[in-house]
Amino acid sequence: KSGFIAIIGRPNVGKSTFMNRVIGQKIAIMSDKPQTTRNKIQGVYTDAESQIVFIDTPGIHKPKHKLGDFMVKMAEHSLNEVDAIMFMINAEEGYGRGDQFIIDRLSNVDKPVYLIINKIDRVHPDDLLPLIDQYKEKLDFQEIIPISALEGNNVNHLLKVLKEEL
Ligand code: GDP
Ligand code: MG
Repeated sequence: KSGFIAIIGRPNVGKSTFMNRVIGQKIAIMSDKPQTTRNKIQGVYTDAESQIVFIDTPGIHKPKHKLGDFMVKMAEHSLNEVDAIMFMINAEEGYGRGDQFIIDRLSNVDKPVYLIINKIDRVHPDDLLPLIDQYKEKLDFQEIIPISALEGNNVNHLLKVLKEEL
């Protein structure tokens, strides 16, 4: 099994931390250069029966200038070429305007979107439910998966679910 997964989310939600944990020592390509027009391969996860190529889509932030509109279009286009999308949010932060921008883009994309709630080590479990409800009404998510990229909670479960999507 092999396939492509796009990771999107506001800055500092934990995308790189997730990649570091999943790819570990085996990082093939990794770059944090912001705002390139083309999608970058962030890393490749491999195990006995599967290979997942993680793609970073940097253009999906709200554009600050005219050229930005074009980059957003490019990013939208490439989201249509992956097998699934991980939309990562920070459990500590509520729903914000940056998220609305991403959700608007995602609503034009016909791919399964997983809502990944990261940093659950920082919140009380009871606080997750209202957060989930808030996001659920904005978009039809394939599944909602809370994780801690830093401590590793539920990351194996997430990988298992993603592999099933390939
Ligand atoms: P990115 O901008 O989305 O790539 O976010 P980073 O991976 O660079 O993470 C931003 C900050 O959040 C860093 O200080 C990380 O150590 C921290 N961070 C990432 N994931 C977690 C998590 O699961 N729990 C906690 N407590 N901190 C995290
Ligand atoms: Mg990063």
